[in-house]
Parts: sequence; structure tokens; C-alpha cells
Amino acid sequence: MKKWVYFFGAGKAEGDGTWRDLLGGKGAGLAEMTKIGLPVPAGFTLSTETCDYFYKNGKKYPSELKKQIAENVAKLEKVTKKKLGDPKNPLLVSVRSGSARSMPGMMETILNLGLNDKSVEGLAHATKNDRFAYDAYRRFVQMYCTVVMGMSKEDLEHRLRAMKQRLGVKEDTAVPASGWKELVAEYKAYFNEKNGSAFPEDPMEQLWGAIGAVFGSWMAEKAVTYRRVEKITGLLGTAVNVMQMVFGNTGDNSGTGVCFTRDPSSGEKTFYGDYLSNAQGEDVVAGIRTPVHLTELSKLMPKVYGQLEKVRVKLEKHYRDMQDMEFTVEEGVLYMLQTRTGKRTPAATFKIAMDMANEKLITKEEAILRVKPEDIERLFYPVIDPKVDKKTLSAKIIGHGINAVPGAAVGKACFTAHEAEEWAAKGEKVILVRRETSPEDVGGMAVAQGILTATGGKTSHAAVVARGWGKCCIVGAETLEIDYKTKTMTASKNGKVVKEGDWLTLDGSEGTVYADAQPLVTPEFPKAYQTVMKWVDETRKMRVRTNADTPQDARKAIEFGAEGIGLCRTEHMFFTDFEHPEQSHNRQLAIQEMIVAETQEARVKALDKLLPYQRRDFVGIFQAMDGFPVTIRLIEPPLHEFVPHEREKQAQLAKELGISVETVARRVEQLHEANPMLGHRGCRLSITYPEILEMQVRAIIEAAIECHKGRVKVLPEIMIPLTLDKKEMSILEQATRRVADKLIKEAGIKLPYLVGTMIELPRAALLAAEIAEVAEFFSFGTNDLTQTTMGLSRDDAGRFLPDYVDEKKAGVFAGDPFQTLDTKGVGMLMRWGIENGRKTRPKLKVGICGEHGGDADSVKFCHEIGMDYVSASPFRVPISRLAAAQVVVESKQKAAKKKK
Ligand code: ADP
Ligand code: MG
Repeated sequence: MKKWVYFFGAGKAEGDGTWRDLLGGKGAGLAEMTKIGLPVPAGFTLSTETCDYFYKNGKKYPSELKKQIAENVAKLEKVTKKKLGDPKNPLLVSVRSGSARSMPGMMETILNLGLNDKSVEGLAHATKNDRFAYDAYRRFVQMYCTVVMGMSKEDLEHRLRAMKQRLGVKEDTAVPASGWKELVAEYKAYFNEKNGSAFPEDPMEQLWGAIGAVFGSWMAEKAVTYRRVEKITGLLGTAVNVMQMVFGNTGDNSGTGVCFTRDPSSGEKTFYGDYLSNAQGEDVVAGIRTPVHLTELSKLMPKVYGQLEKVRVKLEKHYRDMQDMEFTVEEGVLYMLQTRTGKRTPAATFKIAMDMANEKLITKEEAILRVKPEDIERLFYPVIDPKVDKKTLSAKIIGHGINAVPGAAVGKACFTAHEAEEWAAKGEKVILVRRETSPEDVGGMAVAQGILTATGGKTSHAAVVARGWGKCCIVGAETLEIDYKTKTMTASKNGKVVKEGDWLTLDGSEGTVYADAQPLVTPEFPKAYQTVMKWVDETRKMRVRTNADTPQDARKAIEFGAEGIGLCRTEHMFFTDFEHPEQSHNRQLAIQEMIVAETQEARVKALDKLLPYQRRDFVGIFQAMDGFPVTIRLIEPPLHEFVPHEREKQAQLAKELGISVETVARRVEQLHEANPMLGHRGCRLSITYPEILEMQVRAIIEAAIECHKGRVKVLPEIMIPLTLDKKEMSILEQATRRVADKLIKEAGIKLPYLVGTMIELPRAALLAAEIAEVAEFFSFGTNDLTQTTMGLSRDDAGRFLPDYVDEKKAGVFAGDPFQTLDTKGVGMLMRWGIENGRKTRPKLKVGICGEHGGDADSVKFCHEIGMDYVSASPFRVPISRLAAAQVVVESKQKAAKKKK
């Protein structure tokens, strides 16, 4: 016979703390606490399998359940020496939900079950406390009405308020027994009126009703939504815990509380918690009366406090992690009702991990595993001041979008990149609001505090660029209608209108857009972070570099622990002068002049203007990276991205260059491609226009020579993008070396440099063995490699990819392959590329520089296939460091398990 129900009580349990999947977190915790000898009221748990069966069989229970419940009730009655419904000394129970993953407040609980008109008298008699007995009764009836019958809570509370008014009392604790008795009668009459039947007096009927309600709450909308938002999948359902009631509401010698073994917000090793005397269950958190701090309990009940302190130590030692506990004191006796691993702030995560390792409670390796990538992410970004009143804040909501880059930002709304730059130059803080962004907007994006777009997903242009900078960004806020003409944004949900220059606040962590300037605070950088990250760096095998295009980013990345640059995209330098923004226009003009040039001569002339800018940028980057390798990618995007497409702007450009509008328009027209992603881009540009490559190599090597002379150690790695063939690679490698070697020879110095390639096309990965004959290093450009392997455009996939990821729709992929590597397909090419590249060149240096280099799961895969380094945007460098260390610890653990 299949077992559906598991008993715990009197020091024994039919399960333990590791049975979370079967008994739920609460059930497993109760079993474990019982086993280690803590004072836990007895009870039994209906397994999550029961819930699974219930939903798979048209909401019917397994046939054996009835018998098993009856047996367990009998056992409980024996252990507690009380009987359900007994008119003299009745057993009362609570019926509590609890799944394998904690979902606070999402599912239902019923307390004091087993009370009826007879047993309430028995309870009053046994406790010699009428008031308490009827208080318990009215609570039970109210919970049963709302939770099991779905009646309106407000209707019931209304009756409670009226009763208190009649009696002229304020606090619930001042209501006499007769008041509660009256209320119970009123509730029951209302029950009859609503349901056309009497309130169930039979405790077994009550119990079945409550069990059904707990299972029902698993599929309640709020619970389903919670699981979707928290990405909780693969659970069987909720367990149901039925356990003997203990009473915190018998008088001043009783009470109820919650506590944490350490402070969950700072991580300090202090006992932290709240206690409310003469109260039951939810009263502590419901905010009806204000609870007191735990230190008060030490004065009120020193003996109980001492016991609780012992439980704290025992549980933390036992679970080897910070615990969040619920307890009740009945007539001076302590009972434990729940324990679970406590949720904590990112700062506390580091502090607790560090302290526990130092206390030798856990190992340093375990401490490394305790930190989640999100903890690091959330540590650095500004947030809306938590002191701002939640209600005031939610009244300011304008809309929601996809939380592309976390953190919060405040600024005035600007609807064009150009204006954003103008306003910022005047010292204004701006939020750039666009339907979507394109490379032309980069300047405006760079100066904005935050970016908001109405379209796009987490891999849209806006999201990718903003993530690179760690800049707050919300994309895909589809309920916001953006009108460029009137420069307004209208919230289609509530009609709120934001005009140009109005203050806005973005919460990029949640994806919420607020009206007005909300106060922001930057969380403090905890000391424990440095310590734990030191352990991380000692553990990992892979190096972690950064993707940085400017000296500022390079310096920022060094602060975050980068060990070099894995990708410096030179084309961003064509648009914006980050150190001298007022010179940006000259750069743009030079590149545009180069592109519209009709002869090679004219092109070279324009390129000569660009050279000093690029050289200066490289000097800054080399200086910031003093001694670390710097990989610089030669020009990559199709040229049409750099020229204006609107007639007006074309005219302006023509005027500035002293040529005709027609010439400009014709060149732009010529650059048009049906499929630019597969068109004239990457190293194909340098095959057609070798002079571009020559200028860029010259700028890199001249900068390197200058730094070398200034005693800055430089290790340039020149990277050819989008290679597809060995011969192509070889032509460009030779062109690169011709320029570089000549300059180095002229300078009369020794300057090592490498020439390598990005692997972004399946063909390049397949022919890795040949390409490695020429290339000294590989860097996997997994954004394009994913795009070209899957045949899915990264910029358009947002329209249908959600269906592919959605478990209910198609569930083809577990996640967005542009965020987390498709290790199966793209990963196969990577593995092959590395293996075969190293067959030709055993010491081939291999890294990754796509967005995936900052994604923890992808980084772990990179370790497994033998990469030397990963490269991530500056803000994600610590995440990559962490992941690179975690994978080392995890594979060690796996290996140890296998041995066993
Ligand atoms: P949640 O999962 O929402 O925390 P719980 O099942 O823990 O819900 O129950 C809610 C409240 O009721 C808690 O404060 C708990 O301490 C209290 N409670 C539950 N069971 C009992 C019991 N047997 N005796 C006394 N209080 C109980
Ligand atoms: Mg609880």
C-alpha cells in the first residue's frame, strides 16, 4: 500500500530534514526538529505526492488516504492524550500548507481546528479560561469561513468591529468571553445564510474541508503567479501538515514569535526577532499590535529566552546555515513550530558566509557556494530608498516593463538621444525614453541615468548596451505609448502622461516605472564581500577579463577584479568621445566622411583624421590595464549603421563635408543590404577596404609603443572578427603584421603582440584546426555564434522566443539561448572548435567574449570545455569570478560523490 501520510511526535519522525521534496520544507523541518529533540507539537504530514495525485485525478484523493488519516489521527490522539471533539479536554490541530520551496504567505493555514459548540466548553473547562476558549473558537470559525468556504474576510471583520463598538473596547485582548461567544453565533448565522447549510460541527468533516482548502490554495492565482515570477518549476505540489495546537493566546504568560539565528539584514551574529505576548499565529506579522524585540523576551521570560537561545545554537549547528524560526510560548513552555533557511539581504549573504567559514561551521568552499549571482548583482546598484512609504510609491506607478538591467535611476524624460546629450551637457540628469534604441543613440544612452524602451527584450540593443555599462534599463514596457512628435509618453492603463522634462524614476530591478524623482540610496559595499571574493579568486582556474570600450570602463572593470580586456569594440569609439564628449562630433564626422568617400584616396584622408582619436583611446585603455592583456577587435558592424538615413541629417552631413546631398544619399543607398547581419560586415570590410585595418592596427601599435616608452606594460591582442576561412584570416593576419612589425622596428623596441580571431560562425568552429594554423588565439563571440548556429536573429527573436521558453506553450528551450549558452548545439561547436584548434596549436589561448561571459551557467560551461578565460561587462566581472570558482567546487563535490 502506498504511503501518503508521515507521522512526527514524541521524539520520533517518519522522515527527516532531507525529505523536502516529499514532505515540503515545513514538514521536513518539523520532522528534523522532532528527531533532534526539540519541543515540537506532534502531528502528521500528507505528502506532496498526495497533492500531485489530487490534481492528476480530477481533484480526488487516493483511495488509501482516508484510512491512513484515521490511523494518524488515532496515533496523534494517543501521543497527546486528547481526543478530537472531546467535550471535556479536546485535541485541537492546525492545518498548514508547505511545499518544497518556500512561498511565504502564498498558501493557506487554519488554526484551532476541532472546536465546536461542545468542545469549546471542554477547552474552557480544561484551561479554566473562557475568554481564551471563545477567542480560539471565533478565530477558527473565521478562518474556516474564509479559507475553506471562500467567504469575504471583510464581511466577517465588519461584524467583529461592530461587536467591539457595541462593547466599547478597542483592543482584541479586551474583548470578554461573552463578546467572542456572540461573534461566533453571528459568524455561524452568516455561514448558514451564505451556504444554505449549518457550520460543520464534526471535527473530521472540518479536517477534510481544511485539507481540501490547502490543496486548493496550491493552484490559487496568487500562488501560481508567485511560482511563475520566482521561476519555481518542477514541484509536485504542497504538503499538508496537521499538528497539535499550542496556544500563545492564553494570557500574559503566553505569546508567539518569529526569530532569526543571525540578523537577516546585516548578517551580524546577533539573535534577531519579534515577540508578541498573548497572541496567536499570524498576529505577529499582521501588524494589529506592535511586537517587541526579542531582548524584551529575555526580561519577560528569562527561562524561555534561555531555552530559545539554546535552540538557536542547536539549529544553526545542525543546519549549518542561518535559520528563520517560528515559536509559541504556552503558559511559560516553549514550542518550536517551524524552521527554515532564512532569506537575507545580499550584504548579509556575504557576511554570514564569511563568518560561518571563519567559525569553521562551514568550509570556505561552501561559503563560495552560498553566494548567488543575484546577490552580487544586487549589491552594487542604487535602489529606491527603502524608507519611502510603499503605498505612496505604488500610487506613482506609470507602468511596467522587462527588468533588463537592475538598479534604480532618476532623471528627466528625454525622447531623443540628441536631446539627452544636450541636456546632460547642461548638467541635467536625464532618462532616455525611446520606442527602441539603435547604435546611433549610443551617445544619448551613455549620458542618461537610465534607459526606458517600449519594445524589445533582454537582448535588445538597449538592454545589451546598458548591461555593458551596468546602467539601469527597462525594455519592452508595452503599455507605454511613446509619441516622438508630441514628446510624450502615455500610460495606456491609467492615462498618466509624461512630458519631456518631467521627472521619472526607473526601478530596473523590478521593471517598474514611477512618476517623479524618488530618493535613491546606494547600498554599502560590505567588507565581507572582499574576503569572500578573495577566496573565490584563490579557487577558480579560469581568468576573468572584461568587455570594455573606453578607459573609464576599463578602470571600473579593474575595480571589479578584471584581469584584462577580452573585447574592446573599436567602433563605439567612432561615435562617442567618452573623455571629451565635446569632440564626439568630430569623430562621427570623420567616420562618416570615410564611409561616403568614393575613392580610396578620400577614404585614407578621412581615416587619417580618425587615427589620433583611436590612438588616444587605446593609450587610456592600456594604461588602465597596466600589465594585463588587452584584446582589441577590428571594425565589425556594417557601415550603414554609421551614416544618417533621414534626409535632413544627410543634408547636414553633406554641408559639413562640402559635398552634395545626392552623393551622400547615393552612398547610403548603396550600403543598403537585404540582410545586413549576413552581409558586408566583420573582417569582410577589411578585405574590401584594407586601409581601415591598416589605420586601426597603426593606432593600436602606436599607442602600445607610446605606453611601452612610458613604462606601462602592454600586451595587445589584435582580433579579427567573423572569420570564416583560413585564407581570409591569413590575408588579414599578414596585413596586420606588415603594419605592426614596421612600426615596432622603427621604434627600435621589443613589443610582443598576438593576432587571433573571433569564432562567430559555425564554419569557423568546424574548421578550427585550419584556422588555428594562423590564429594565435580564439575568442568565442557567442552572440553571433548563437545567432548563426540557430539561424535566429537576436534582434527579432524577442517576438517568438518567449513561446519557445514558455513551458506551457512549447517549452523547446529551458531558457533564452542569447542569455544562457545553448550548451547542446552552440556548445557542441565550441567544444569541437577548442579541441581541434588545440590539435594544431596546443597552447592556443581560448576565451569567450559574448554576453554569455557574464552569465553564471554559461561561465561554468566554459570552464568545463577548457577555456583559459571568460570576458564580461565590467559590472558582471564579479559574477563571472564567482561562477568560475563555484564550478571548481561543484565538480570537486561531484567527483567525490562518484567515488562513494
Ligand atoms: P505560513 O506558511 O504562512 O508561515 P504557517 O503554517 O507557518 O503559515 O502558520 C501561520 C501561523 O500559525 C504561524 O505563525 C504559526 O506559528 C502558527 N501556527 C501554525 N500551527 C500552529 C500550532 N500547531 N500551534 C500554534 N500556532 C501554530
Ligand atoms: Mg510560517
